[in-house]
Amino acid sequence: MKRLAVLSLHTSPLAQAGVGDGGGMNVYVREFATALAQTGVHCRVYVRAWNKQLPRFVEVEPGFEIVHIQAGPCDVPKDQLPQHVDEFARGVAEDFRTFEPEAIHANYWLSGVAGNALKREFDLPLISTFHTLARVKAESGDYEPESRARAESDVMGCSDVVMSNCDAESEQLVNFYDADPARIEVIPPGVDHAFFSPGPKSGARWALNTDDRPLLLFVGRIQPLKGVDVAVKALAASKHPEARLWIVGGASGTQGASELAHIKQLIANLDLEDRVEFHPPQPHHLLSTYYRAADVVLVPSKSESFGLVALEAAACGTPCVASAVGGLLTLVDEGQTGYLIDGRDPQEYAEAIDRILFDPALATELSNNAAKHALNYTWCESAKKLVAIASTLADRRLAPCE
Ligand code: UDP
Repeated sequence: MKRLAVLSLHTSPLAQAGVGDGGGMNVYVREFATALAQTGVHCRVYVRAWNKQLPRFVEVEPGFEIVHIQAGPCDVPKDQLPQHVDEFARGVAEDFRTFEPEAIHANYWLSGVAGNALKREFDLPLISTFHTLARVKAESGDYEPESRARAESDVMGCSDVVMSNCDAESEQLVNFYDADPARIEVIPPGVDHAFFSPGPKSGARWALNTDDRPLLLFVGRIQPLKGVDVAVKALAASKHPEARLWIVGGASGTQGASELAHIKQLIANLDLEDRVEFHPPQPHHLLSTYYRAADVVLVPSKSESFGLVALEAAACGTPCVASAVGGLLTLVDEGQTGYLIDGRDPQEYAEAIDRILFDPALATELSNNAAKHALNYTWCESAKKLVAIASTLADRRLAPCE
């Protein structure tokens, strides 16, 4: 494969992650495109123009560019984006005539719907990555319109490859959507070890201008799905009198602002104002300093298709205490690199946290194991797997679309 069209309709790989619509998918699209470009695959990423000042074409690095497609008003709310998918697909189609991609990689269901239309028009293989799934989110009480679940199902039906981040996601695709297992390929995301690697805690704390009291860290978008409330309550339940929690990220999604207000109220009610600090979203590569400075990274998500934060923390040698869901089941090796908690009881989180805080030898062992475990994940490996799969697509009959 020499040219790959990457659809990222609703959010740009250049957007700040950790706030609004920016999160793991942005990092994923950016890092994947970089790694593919380095293996010789020219990636053109199509993003809906969300700002009038954006140039149509941005060269990010050799072999990786972004094309902004006009589709609907710049500031259209996310729940109205489905109305603009056709226009987006038409704009992308125009560009396809000169770019002439050999395959389409659609990210998230909105891009999948556009990818479905483009696949039919150009007779190209469609590779889909969903990042989150409506029916999986609904399981943990986070409801999405049924129209989204139906669209996801249609996109799966006409995708030649459905890329899954881990075995847990593959099972969800089959169990919740009846996806064809023969078309599912597990390609775990990676982590950039040049940035995310172990380093001295004292130096990281010096850089962040903080002292040596135990530090718990939450990194990511603030919305109910991410369970920041559990992190706060776990701090309250910890037996370590000096432990504190840093929350790095900002409000995201329609419930983001109310969730943030709820968290602040909870902190006040638990009398934790002196022990919890909010930090604005950080440029991705700067997060390594935060991970190195922390004693424990908390990932108490209700669902998680992968959980890049857990992988980045591990790569920096910081143990995670995470919920036993989705990709976190593969990223955290129970008792070896951190702890996995079934359910959402803050007391259980606190016990796992305290085990690490009160036992420096255990903390060192978990840290070493975590850094080693994370070496299994690189973007270069992810890119190689995708290229290998794509090379088989040229000889396969394309999946029919109804
Ligand atoms: N992130 C970031 N800056 C921040 C907060 C988060 O760059 O201030 C990045 C983080 O490094 C990770 C991504 O956002 O790569 C979050 O991905 P994850 O899979 O953990 O969660 P998602 O956003 O996909 O739900």
